[in-house]
Amino acid sequence: MEQSIENKLIKADKAFSEWKKVPFEDRQKLISKAAELLKNNAEKFGTIITKEMNKPIAQSMAEVEKCALMMNYYADAENILKPEHIDSQYAYSEIHYVPKGVILGVMPWNFPFWQVLRFAVPAILAGNTVVLKHASICFGSGNAIEDVLLEAGFPEGVFQNLEIGHKDVKEVLEHKAVAGVSLTGSEKAGAEVASIAGQNIKKSLLELGGSDAFIVLDDANLDEAAKVGALARLQNCGQTCVAAKRFIIDEKIEDAFLPKFIEEYKKFVPADPMDKETKIAGMARPDLADDLEKQFEKALEHGAEIILPLERISDNEFKPGLIRVKEGNPILQEELFGPLGMIMIARDDEEALQMANHIPFGLSNSVWTQDKTRQLFFIENLESGTVNINRMTSSDPRFPFGGTKTSGYGTELSLLALREFVTAKTIVGN
Ligand code: NDP
Repeated sequence: MEQSIENKLIKADKAFSEWKKVPFEDRQKLISKAAELLKNNAEKFGTIITKEMNKPIAQSMAEVEKCALMMNYYADAENILKPEHIDSQYAYSEIHYVPKGVILGVMPWNFPFWQVLRFAVPAILAGNTVVLKHASICFGSGNAIEDVLLEAGFPEGVFQNLEIGHKDVKEVLEHKAVAGVSLTGSEKAGAEVASIAGQNIKKSLLELGGSDAFIVLDDANLDEAAKVGALARLQNCGQTCVAAKRFIIDEKIEDAFLPKFIEEYKKFVPADPMDKETKIAGMARPDLADDLEKQFEKALEHGAEIILPLERISDNEFKPGLIRVKEGNPILQEELFGPLGMIMIARDDEEALQMANHIPFGLSNSVWTQDKTRQLFFIENLESGTVNINRMTSSDPRFPFGGTKTSGYGTELSLLALREFVTAKTIVGN
């Protein structure tokens, strides 16, 4: 390992020995200050995001503002890490929540501020320190986050950006100063990093891919579902783990819904990412666009029909595509991380549910129906970390966020995230 990286790990470990003693409320004050800095500089930080990964500037600014919102949530959050008394026959009868130490974040490029802060803020509030391995195209975002936290008054070493490639992750995670890892990204990266953590008996949290269903039943508000559905697929150029990727449509409303949906979909025309009116721009990297094109061809080879062609207009830009896919097409087992949506037609609610669940992932599904009984049927039977009723998925700091099946494990956001990187230490006896 390079000496400069080792030095940062040692610095993070030293910082931990002091940071864990800082009262929860004092940590919250620093988080609040950092939130203010982000909110007041949303355009400056949004520009860094857009320059690094092409997200339309309005969406980059919204990402920064959402980080501030999430941080204010934690700045005001109840301290659920206070020592807890348990009624028993013993004089000592308590649970203490002890932070684990230095936690490594391995983070992706699709939400370069949000993914990092969503993980780091509760981990730091719990008393841990953090080192970041950001996506290789997002080192500028990683450095900007480090600067903001220092400017807010966090002690040196509480959060550091490492600027390392993915080949260096193994050595960092194996280092004795590092106590655990949180990764957001592909299943491949997640499986590799979690196995290194496992071999070293270190805690891991994985937030991986998804292929969420957006189920539209015959009694849904079709205008709203069409508008929200297009946004749910194409926001951030389709590069969102919780994007709606499979639209499962009740056959009774196929003819009524599809033209509305296509009309909304066509409003996403690739344009300059620095223009505040732009709704969609290029993908983050040309190789990711190549991968999406290959997946489009694979889907067609296995019988998918084109509704709107996926039309490449530059090395990283597409006119968004839409295909009709039937059960059995192997593309359904993959995540389409770009502007390509899939339509499936279901005979009834039972078939819609089976289609929705018949994938390896389980992140966040959305169901559109006015009927309470049908809503409950899907709430109880969908295999995913979140179920949305008559809304698209968008994470909310107040609610837990995480997946099931190959979408990963562990909880981000909400008060529960505070308990991810702590040890519940039992104190018992007389
Ligand atoms: P990766 O999962 O490869 O990258 C995410 C992060 O993991 C990056 O920091 C990356 O570093 C790191 N990483 C990658 N491989 C390893 C490894 N073997 N060991 C340690 N760290 C690793 O995503 P890609 O950028 O390659 O995108 C590929 C696909 O992954 C997408 O098309 C999409 O399907 C999925 N993805 C899902 C995301 C989500 O939010 N669920 C986010 C991003 C991608 P580096 O940049 O240096 O390679």
